[in-house]
Parts: sequence; C-alpha cells; structure tokens
Amino acid sequence: MSEDTLRLSFEFFPPKTEEGKTKLTAVREKLAVFAPDFFSVTYGAGGSTRDNTKNLVTQFNALGTSVAPHLSFGGDDEATIKELIEEYRTAGIERIVALRGDMPSGVGGSYQLVYANELVAFIRQHFGDAFELEVAAYPEIHPQAKSYDDDVRYLKGKFDAGADNAITQYFYNPDAYFYFMDACAKIGIENPIYPGIMPIINYRNLTRFSDSCGADIPRWLRRRLESFEHDPEALRDFGEEVVTELCETLLEGGAPGLHFYTMNQSEPVASIVRNLGLDDL
Ligand code: FAD
Repeated sequence: MSEDTLRLSFEFFPPKTEEGKTKLTAVREKLAVFAPDFFSVTYGAGGSTRDNTKNLVTQFNALGTSVAPHLSFGGDDEATIKELIEEYRTAGIERIVALRGDMPSGVGGSYQLVYANELVAFIRQHFGDAFELEVAAYPEIHPQAKSYDDDVRYLKGKFDAGADNAITQYFYNPDAYFYFMDACAKIGIENPIYPGIMPIINYRNLTRFSDSCGADIPRWLRRRLESFEHDPEALRDFGEEVVTELCETLLEGGAPGLHFYTMNQSEPVASIVRNLGLDDL
C-alpha cells in the first residue's frame, strides 16, 4: 500500500474545563499539520458528554479537517439520538463512530445497553448514506465477549448492518491484529479495519486503563516500563520507540492506516507520525 492512500486519524476526548478546551485547540492545530483524514471526539458513557462532544465536534469541524463524533444510545431514547444526529448532519458532519458504549458508573437495574449493530441500523434507516460509519473492533477480543468466534461474528453483524470501517481497541502485540484480520477474512469481512494506536505516556494510567478495557500489555513490555517508574522522560523515549516499531510492523503487514488515541496530547503522537515518515502525506 502506498503512503498516500494510508488513512490517518486522531482521537480526542472532550475536556471538562475551559483551560482544557483552550489546550486542546492548540493540540488540534499541531496535529492538523499532518493532514489527517479526520479527528474524532469520544462520547461519555451513558451520554454523559453529549453537549461537550457535540460542541467540540461542531467547533473543530468548522476549522477545516473533518471531525467524527463517537455516539452510543447511552440512556437516551430514539427521538433524542435522532435529533442529535440531525444536528450533526446540519453542521456538515459526514462520519460517525457508532458504539454500544459501557454502563455509566453508579447505574444498574433496568439500564439497557443498545448493541452497536442496532445503532448502525438505526442511522442507516433514518439517515441513509449521509454518514460514513465507523465501528469498534477488538483484536484481543472484547472483555464481555462469549468467545473469540462470537466477537468476530458480531463485528460482521455491524458491517452487515451498514458500517463502512472499523477501528480497533489498542494493543501492543501485532500478531493479535494479523490473526484477527485472518479470522475476519475467513468469515467474509472485507471492510477496512484500522489499528487503534495508544502512545505510551504514563505507565500507571496505561496499566489501569488496559486492565479495564481488556487490552493486553505483554509481560516483557510491562516489566520494561516498570523499570522507568522514576524516569518519565526515559519512559516516553522507550514508549515512542516501541510504538513506532509496532506501527511499522502493522503498516508493512498491510494495515490500511492508523487511528491514534492522542489522550489530548500532540507531542507523543506527532513524534511517532514523524518517525514513520507520515508527516508529508
Ligand atoms: P458492541 O459491538 O455492541 O459489542 C459489545 C459486546 O457485546 C461484545 O462483547 C460483543 O461480542 C457483544 N455483542 C455485539 N453485538 C451483539 C449482539 N447483536 N448480540 C449479542 N451480543 C453482541 N466508549 C465510550 O464510552 N465512549 C467512546 O467514545 C468510545 N469510543 C471507542 C472507540 C473505539 C475505536 C473503541 C475500540 C472503543 C471505544 N469505546 C468507547 C469503548 C466501547 O464503548 C466499549 O468497548 C464497549 O464495551 C463496547 O462497545 P462496542 O460498540 O464495541 O459494542
């Protein structure tokens, strides 16, 4: 695959404070120089960031580079979600990352999560082809999946419902991605599946997050990162090297592009993009 057809995207989360928003605007500007295909903005569990996500998406979309909101039904009814999608269409948004999402903390009882394939079908039913639809994929398998095969089959269900592409949960073992791609091909999935890339910035945050979302940090990597506990600069340098090599392996093995979880920081991602020579796409 030639470099100019590789897809590049950068993910943000909506900041809670005005200071965070100002910082993120600067981060967006620094990453926009790489001419990504799109930025994306996450959606809090249960719709908790509905307005913040919408405001950031519309604000950034007006600056030029296209922006994709992440979306799940959360606790909302169909009319509310339909209205939100209408607003996105009116604002010129052309891509949505469609998710089931997770249970917001502190709720239980009758709270029902709506599977991502149902949200994809809902968007296609009411909005036709107005949006390019991305869904989530899990090379190391979703933590609640009944089995490997079930999870791959449910991914196919999302494509059958009308999704165009998938973006993966992050991982550090490229074989997990390649094996997953083979499993997807075997059941007839032909849509692009973009690896999600998490730069290594902070060891404690990374392990906490990885444990909760089911992303594996291989033992050798965990032990090496532990040894940098009191040297954050060395950890970042080592992390940059490891993640750059991961990206190289993925692209050499045929990955159609990369989606970066930026954690609202420009430099770790920018360094990797430059190392990969993707800064002049
Ligand atoms: P689904 O695809 O619906 O799958 C959820 C689980 O149910 C899986 O175990 C699957 O095997 C199973 N399943 C799927 N379909 C069916 C079905 N029809 N019947 C029975 N079982 C089924 N979370 C957020 O809160 N906000 C975000 O913005 C956000 N962005 C993300 C972006 C990416 C690229 C990724 C990879 C994850 C993101 N997440 C986000 C996390 C995601 O919400 C969680 O992983 C969530 O638990 C699953 O969402 P999903 O869309 O993958 O669910």
